[in-house]
Amino acid sequence: MVRYEGMEFVESISASEIQEAVRRVAQAINEDYVGREPLFVCVLNGAFMYASDLMKHIKLPCEITFVRMKSYEGTETTGKVNMLIPLQEDVKGRDVIIIEDIVDTGITMHAFMNELRDLGANSVELTSFLYKPESLRYEDAKPKYYGLAIPPAFIIGYGLDINEKEANGYTPLMLAAMLCGCTTNTTNTKVGRGEQTSCHNPYQQCYYLITDFI
Ligand code: 5GP
Repeated sequence: MVRYEGMEFVESISASEIQEAVRRVAQAINEDYVGREPLFVCVLNGAFMYASDLMKHIKLPCEITFVRMKSYEGTETTGKVNMLIPLQEDVKGRDVIIIEDIVDTGITMHAFMNELRDLGANSVELTSFLYKPESLRYEDAKPKYYGLAIPPAFIIGYGLDINEKEANGYTPLMLAAMLCGCTTNTTNTKVGRGEQTSCHNPYQQCYYLITDFI
């Protein structure tokens, strides 16, 4: 267990589980978009690692662009979406796939997907690495392609930050997190406290830390 900003985090998803989930999502997109040339829109900052990993497995002709928006302060949603870096590309007639780090209430993606439709996109779909089904308030923001479903807890690592910090997972404290012993059951997509798992390489950047929600 480690503490950041007064919260307790434990390791909950391993590097290999992350990569397996990314490959699964990429495969589904590759199959669904055969014959099309999607425009991926990566939502900064949180999705940068997921987008980078995902694109390595996309076999389609495609483009990628970036936007930056913010709806969170610390661990709380403000309920308001601020566009910090707006969309530069013309999406008219394009098949757009948004790449997001995590869908919580869905308010951010609900607003952004509607904006893209209003701009004339031919289709708008969403891939989010993580998804919190129990927190979702906007059904239309349920990601069609997601890596893992998790409980409604606050999670950091693999690009997801806490107040702009601790997104990388390189800090020595990550090692302390590993000692806590937490398992992930990706088959029924429940994340929880459990038995001690085998150790992972602490210097890989792909660790998730999650609040002690049980
Ligand atoms: P929503 O609009 O779905 O309520 O929240 C989506 C955005 O809030 C995400 O893009 C992310 O920036 C932030 N967010 C939601 N849940 C978490 C979380 O558990 N951890 C982190 N680091 N950010 C979160």
